[in-house]
Amino acid sequence: MSTMSANSKAKGRLFVLSGPAGVGKGTIIAEVFKLLDGLVYSVSCTTREPRPGETDGRNYYFMTEENFAKMVEEGQFLEWAHVHGKSYGTRRDLVEKHLSRGIDVLLEIDVQGAMQVKEKMPEAVTVFIEPPSFAELVSRLKARGTETAEQLEIRTANAEKELAAAGKYEHRIINDKISEATRDLVKIIQKYRRNHQ
Ligand code: 5GP
Repeated sequence: MSTMSANSKAKGRLFVLSGPAGVGKGTIIAEVFKLLDGLVYSVSCTTREPRPGETDGRNYYFMTEENFAKMVEEGQFLEWAHVHGKSYGTRRDLVEKHLSRGIDVLLEIDVQGAMQVKEKMPEAVTVFIEPPSFAELVSRLKARGTETAEQLEIRTANAEKELAAAGKYEHRIINDKISEATRDLVKIIQKYRRNHQ
């Protein structure tokens, strides 16, 4: 029997998505948000430069290393990590606000961050997006054309390391076709929602 009182609402669930640069996480996430309600994207803080078309507060909270370090010191991050030579972190206050209101939250963060979250919140659901092959990943990353040659090299090297960590995740999705990978992620989220009621 449920012990929940009539006016207390179930907490939202945290979904943590990772995968190497260029695997198509951004596209899959955009598609999933078209299909599901009751889910918010957690906007991360970063010290990297905005790419053309990116907006502060929508894609990321862009900030200086100094401000980032201050937030680390104040314990404002649920997790944070150095990725591709820059700092990235998830604001604890925003995540907690949504979860306490019964809204599910999707984090798109790297492997180091995902492991930190899983340690602090074991109930979080971890999902790893993989490319069909490493060669395919490299060619997608080049085709994207958003990185300099140097950034491309760093991201390709990191991709190998990230792929090696896929086994640490509860769910793995191979992104061969966006529509199928999207459907797989929606199914995973819906499965947990059903079990949550
Ligand atoms: P990008 O610079 O391409 O937007 O993201 C680079 C990497 O940083 C991606 O692997 C992404 O998952 C990761 N990332 C983005 N936000 C966060 C965050 O808040 N924390 C951690 N640990 N990684 C993040």
